[in-house]
Amino acid sequence: MSAVSVNDVSVAFGSLKVFDGISLDIEEGEFVVLLGPSGCGKSTLLNAVAGLIEVEEGQIWIGGNNVTWEEPKDRGIAMVFQSYALYPRMSVRENMSFGLRMAKTPKAEIARRVERAAELLQIAHLLDRRPDQLSGGQRQRVAIGRALVRDAAVFLFDEPLSNLDAQLRNELRVEIKRLHQQMNGTTMIYVTHDQIEAMTLADRIAVMKDRRIQQLGTPHEIYHRPANLFVAGFVGSPR
Ligand code: ADP
Ligand code: MG
Repeated sequence: MSAVSVNDVSVAFGSLKVFDGISLDIEEGEFVVLLGPSGCGKSTLLNAVAGLIEVEEGQIWIGGNNVTWEEPKDRGIAMVFQSYALYPRMSVRENMSFGLRMAKTPKAEIARRVERAAELLQIAHLLDRRPDQLSGGQRQRVAIGRALVRDAAVFLFDEPLSNLDAQLRNELRVEIKRLHQQMNGTTMIYVTHDQIEAMTLADRIAVMKDRRIQQLGTPHEIYHRPANLFVAGFVGSPR
């Protein structure tokens, strides 16, 4: 059984048909990167898995359940976006607790999950600070923390590092890889246009262009046996 299965899915925005039968199967515990240039359909594919956009045809399966028509909150996923809007008047702890409080999770359980996520992300010492007292990198850790407390089986990341400078990007990339290793069995789908991020993070990469998956394979396969000239140029090109 796949952790996530996108099964012959079609998506349209008005007259623009973004996907005409796209499929992708992801194993439990896998780290899969959707890699490709701007406009190739990465966010649309991720949003379809998350339930943030409706599919016209086909099915989305998560953890063995057909979730095609389920609300995002009922899909067992947690998502981290590129822009990390934190609530400015709330502490880090309150920011991380907010979703769980809304879901009426018991207080002791909230405290336990927030502390565990804070420890994993090395922000335990920042829990009582407010967002304006944090650096950009710390804020993005809090944004990831807000997703981690949800204890989801599948995490979705949409270019979570692209607003950060190169040094922070490298640091957090290593951190995300470490998180995935520590959260045994957690499945991650990670969108980026950055080849280095893809090559270092992924178990498998789906290289996309023109709203199609051009090749799906391990970083080694993609690099050494590119399926076509686009993949060869995009993954192999010096930057
Ligand atoms: P990426 O994340 O790879 O940059 P997107 O998935 O955002 O690409 O976009 C794929 C295509 O769908 C693009 O042509 C984009 O212009 C179009 N698109 C994305 N979102 C919308 C929308 N809400 N309405 C209309 N067109 C959209
Ligand atoms: Mg995008």
